[in-house]
Amino acid sequence: MTPKITRFLTEQVPATPCLIVDLDVVEQHYHDLHKALPDGKIFYAIKANPAPAILKRLVSLGSCFDAASLQEVQMCLDAGADPKHISYGNTLKKPSAITEAYAKGINLFVFDSLEELEKIAQHAPGSRVFCRLAVENEGADWPLSRKFGTTTAHAHTLMLRAKELNLIPYGLSFHVGSQQTGIAAYQHAIRAVSTLFNDLCHEGIDLQMLNLGGGFPTHYREKIPPIYDFAKAIDDALTEYFPHKRPEIFLEPGRYMVGQAGTVSTEVILVSRRGGAETDPRWVYLDIGRFGGLAETEGEAIRYQFRTPHDQTGGSTSPCIVAGPSCDGIDILYEKNRVAFPDALKSGDRIEILATGAYVSTYCSVGFNGFPPLEEYYI
Ligand SMILES: *Cc1c(COP(=O)(O)O)cnc(C)c1O
Repeated sequence: MTPKITRFLTEQVPATPCLIVDLDVVEQHYHDLHKALPDGKIFYAIKANPAPAILKRLVSLGSCFDAASLQEVQMCLDAGADPKHISYGNTLKKPSAITEAYAKGINLFVFDSLEELEKIAQHAPGSRVFCRLAVENEGADWPLSRKFGTTTAHAHTLMLRAKELNLIPYGLSFHVGSQQTGIAAYQHAIRAVSTLFNDLCHEGIDLQMLNLGGGFPTHYREKIPPIYDFAKAIDDALTEYFPHKRPEIFLEPGRYMVGQAGTVSTEVILVSRRGGAETDPRWVYLDIGRFGGLAETEGEAIRYQFRTPHDQTGGSTSPCIVAGPSCDGIDILYEKNRVAFPDALKSGDRIEILATGAYVSTYCSVGFNGFPPLEEYYI
């Protein structure tokens, strides 16, 4: 949590639950990634947090954007992005969305199947296309590999087909899984795709771009490697597997760019030992839960850190089960990974949930149990 956010919470005392994002932290992460990997062109994956204030700040820094829908394309354009700086990076697109994006000047599209490639050829003729490969997602807290990507063998066939369809076979992409904490994942993926680059080159298809996707982690409860370690591993792998000519490198950070910038302010609704015995577990119910935006607590995959007003007093703590305010039984945030809350914690206390800038605001349900969507402040 930054001093700017602390000041905002102290001075404004906004109603809870709410999300406060410090835009300077987003900017800092953009600069840090750019400095760590100067060869990489940054395409912010806007699904992580599409707030206009974030998009505008990134446009001003020269960022490009990875959009997953026609609506996301429009959000980037509304923020002032050049259509040439927008990649339509979802392998699932309706023909009408392709047509409209193309009309708006988008000419870079992803695919991972023949059907999608043919759709792009028909509705966005002559565009640049890149093929998404399925790679190992081991080490990622939020894997993506089951749903997206094809094999290198099939990608080979599809890239030849792309040329026949008068598209520009532009590059290859992968995603090593979100909240990826293993730096080796990128190295393995780069090695796997480099062979395909070579094979296609021998068939007269000179791919220009390698899209390394996102996955770069945010610091939640567990320690993570610094971005420079990822950058070094990636740079080493590129040197080793592309010794003659390095392709243009695209990066699609989502979580990394905005995660650390956000803090959720929430109120404790109830602290209880429901059985009444001292040995019963303490349950802490907050006014935000799985349906209020903390959807990534599904399977306790993302383990957020909490700050309470009692942290500095040195009082005793004990592990608590943490749950949200709705009447749904699955609205439990942490039961296996309990949170050591101070024993002094009581209803009415305000708690901060750290590093909640990514994948929170848009995951909020609309009016479930009558709770309004999460209030957001961009400062
Ligand atoms: C979600 C997504 C990203 C961003 O992933 P992070 O793990 O948040 O960095 C990047 N590229 C694509 C294609 C995505 O779907």
